[in-house]
This record gives sequence, structure tokens and C-alpha cells, in this order.
Amino acid sequence: MILGVIADDFTGATDVASMLVRAGMSTVQVIGVPVGDAPTADAVVVALKSRTAPRDQAVDESLRALRWLKQGGARQIYFKYCSTFDSTDEGNIGPVGDALMAALDATQTIACPALPENGRTIFKGHLFVGDALLSDSSMRDHPLTPMRDANLVHVLQAQTPRTVGLTAYNTVGLGAKAIQAQWAQHPQTHWWVVDAIDNAALATIAQACADLPLITAGSGVALGLPKVYEQRGWLTRNAQAAQLDTLQGRALVLSGSCSSQTLAQVAQWIERQLPAYQLDPLLIHADPEQTFQQALVWLSGQPETALIYASAQQETVQRVQKKLGATHAGELVETMLARLAKAAVAQGVNRIVVAGGETSGAVVQALNVQQLRIGHSIAPGVPWTQAVDRPLQLALKSGNFGGVDFFFEALHTKAPAT
Ligand code: ADP
Repeated sequence: MILGVIADDFTGATDVASMLVRAGMSTVQVIGVPVGDAPTADAVVVALKSRTAPRDQAVDESLRALRWLKQGGARQIYFKYCSTFDSTDEGNIGPVGDALMAALDATQTIACPALPENGRTIFKGHLFVGDALLSDSSMRDHPLTPMRDANLVHVLQAQTPRTVGLTAYNTVGLGAKAIQAQWAQHPQTHWWVVDAIDNAALATIAQACADLPLITAGSGVALGLPKVYEQRGWLTRNAQAAQLDTLQGRALVLSGSCSSQTLAQVAQWIERQLPAYQLDPLLIHADPEQTFQQALVWLSGQPETALIYASAQQETVQRVQKKLGATHAGELVETMLARLAKAAVAQGVNRIVVAGGETSGAVVQALNVQQLRIGHSIAPGVPWTQAVDRPLQLALKSGNFGGVDFFFEALHTKAPAT
């Protein structure tokens, strides 16, 4: 293992893993704090759920992941967070980063959530989402991590007792050596927010970070790391890094997301006159066993691909939530889709596309999948993955990801030639 990544949520882990695979590193994603031996891969990504967890828990889980990655031989550690720097004054980016730095005896690290290809850029320490400052974007009113200040030096300084500095775009423009010289001149500055407005800047930043025990960043910086490792002789880049098995079995799409993009994807599938079966949360509530059996009988009659969905328009969801409570309704649907995933696999389905972040978590848990090898991307941030221990492939999509024909593309597009 060359790179060990600790990601603060599941889809963020998949995002960084797909960046690494794209740049030629074989990558395995592990779900939750792992035990046992580390898998064989150039990079291993541990997917935690620590973004909005209580601070001490986030720190503890991250440190346990760190120990496991170091035992597995990781030469460099990467703490991956969201490209919108999702956090509060309490953390968890600062406290987790501080704890990782202390455990690694690291004196300096970077903070760089930039992902220019998704419109996340940093200029003079300020994070932009598209053309808007972070604080003017929809992140301003995020229910858990409202981002009301776009100045990342301020945001991070509120989360750490260590000094936070800025490596501005003009220093980045001078190259990796200039960046390192700035850091060396200020040994008391432990955190450096680094400007990045394009992928060229990210490549320079990755070079500058070559000797840091710890990098903290969004997924963007990861794109430049494989080249650095190759130059060092650590990595032979592998054109087959994204290669998964070719599975011929039946395929299933399970959709529990009610985001507008997923609703459009469900509509497009139906428009294509492909088999689709709708679950009604009220019927699940009334008789879960009968609902399950009916869906299963329907599924066994579908020879190739099928969609089972609970996704519904906002008014319908609200009506259901009013009757059952939002949490209970969500749990009923998640549990049903997860049960159906398990039963489908028992029927011979070996490729499953899941729409919805929480829904994906429930399905992965029900299938008892702990390690996923990362394959080629179907859409940005959504790769096919394969369970390390069996011929089962999963594509896990958070609500708003993917184009309108995502489900069909996922099941019918061949992996790009490598
Ligand atoms: P997203 O990634 O779009 O946020 P999630 O799976 O994370 O999707 O969240 C969607 C939630 O909505 C899940 O808890 C799911 O069980 C719930 N849900 C899905 N369909 C319905 C429905 N028809 N009525 C009420 N809740 C639903």
C-alpha cells in the first residue's frame, strides 16, 4: 500500500477512490473502521461516517483507521473531506487533522478542498462554488454544516489551536519548490490552506506534498499523487487499475432517492419501457411481508434488468411522512430495498445499481459487503465497484449524481478500453 485514505463519508470515499483509479492506482474501498489484514492495492480508502459525528467519535474512528492503514504499510496518509469543506466551528476537519498530525509526528499539512472540474476553486483562501463564494452558495443553509464564511483560513482557524496560514495562488504558480520554501520559512504554521483554481495547480500541490506524512484535502489533490509516486519509483501505474470482472448475470436497479435528478432517471427508465416496480411506503407499513413477497415474485419474472423504486415526488413523500413520520418512513423503505437486494442476489442477480446515499448504506450493510474494488466511472464520482470476496458488482449513486439516462448507461455501457 502506498496511500492510505481516511474519508469522512461514504460517497466521498468513492469519489477519491475513483480519482486514484483514474490516475492509474489500483484502489480498494473499505467500509467502516477496518479489522484484519489490509487488502492488496496501491491505495486503500477507509470510508467513515465521521463528517457530522460528535467530535471525539470522529477523532477516535479516524485514529483507529490510521493505525490500521499504517499497519498495512501506507507510506502517506490522506484525510479526505468534502469539496465544500463541510464542517462547523467544533469540527470535524480541524480536530481530526490535528489528531492525525500528532499521531504521525507531522508538523505541517495542507487544507485544500478544491475540485476545479466540479467548480470548487480556492483563490486567496476563499472557496468558490461555481461563480459564487461558498457563503453565498446553497451550503450557506445546509442543515448540519452551514458554511457562512468562504475564507477557509478563518473557518479552519476556528477549529484548531494550531496556526493556519495561506499559500496563495502566486506562490502555487511558482511551483512545488516555492511552496515548500514558504512552508519551511514558517515552521510554526502547521496548517496551510492552499489556493487552487485549476488541475495544473492541483498537480503542483501534489508535488509539493510529496514529503508530508499527512495530506488533508477534497478529492482533487489525489489526482496528482500517482504521478508523484511514479516519479519516486513507488508506483508502476496500471492501465488496468479499473479492471473488474466481466459479469453476465441479471442486473437490478434499486432507487430510494427522491432527489429531482433520481426522479428524472426513474422517469427515463420507464420511458424506455424497461421493467419497473414501485414500492409504496404505506403498503410496506401495513404489511411488510406481503409487500416484500409481491416485489420478489415480480422480480423473479424479470429475465434481465429491472428497477424497483420507492422514489416519489415531494408532495407524495410529504404525505407519507405526515402519516408515518419522516424517519420511520425512510427506515421502512431502506429496510425493504435492502431486503430485496439480498433476496435478488440469492436469485442470481450480480450487478446492482443503488440510487440514494442512505439507501446505498442500507444495501451495502444488508449484503455484508466490507471491501470494494473500484472500477471505471459511469458518471463523475460514481464508479462501478466489485465486492472483494465475491462476484458481485455495485454502483452506488448519491441522489443528485449522474445524467438522466444513468441507470441504462450503468448497465449497458462497456468499460472504457484501457
Ligand atoms: P439521497 O442521496 O437522494 O439523499 P437517500 O437514500 O440518502 O437519497 O435518502 C432518501 C430517503 O428517502 C431514504 O431514507 C429513503 O428510504 C426515503 N424514501 C424513499 N422513498 C420514499 C417515499 N416514497 N416516501 C418517504 N420516504 C422515502
